[in-house]
Amino acid sequence: MAAYDPDNIFAKILRGEIPSTRVYEDDDTLAFMDIMPRSDGHLLVIPKTPCRNLLDATPEQLAVVMSTTQKLAKAVVKAFNADGVTVQQFNEAAGGQEVFHLHFHVLPRFEGVSLRAPGQMGDFDLIAQHAEKIKASLA
Ligand code: AMP
Repeated sequence: MAAYDPDNIFAKILRGEIPSTRVYEDDDTLAFMDIMPRSDGHLLVIPKTPCRNLLDATPEQLAVVMSTTQKLAKAVVKAFNADGVTVQQFNEAAGGQEVFHLHFHVLPRFEGVSLRAPGQMGDFDLIAQHAEKIKASLA
């Protein structure tokens, strides 16, 4: 497996070098909105320390990121009155991973509503509105 690349896009988000719409942060993890949301409220949870994915993460990194993923899953269900939530996580290009810093997708789900196709840029105003709803439900 390739080494961790400190110039991957999520590392740049962590360092504040590129913008993101943050919804939650603690000492160990960050949650921010996905710019190509496959459902309203689609967000990503990452550890603050470097690892590519599930294959090189330490148990400690997995523990903190999973704890925050559960917190955000509950928050999006509350924020959007969702019927459910999908959590996705991909490992290496062959496994569907595009950004090589460990992340978990959190996707609010509604009965009868399919996920949107991947790769479609979202509306930034709408994403910002959704982020505010999530932050309010965490408060
Ligand atoms: P994957 O590595 O396949 O789990 O997918 C990476 C995810 O990161 C995709 O859902 C992208 O829409 C998302 N993404 C890529 N660049 C950014 C960015 N700058 N800010 C927020 N999300 C991003």
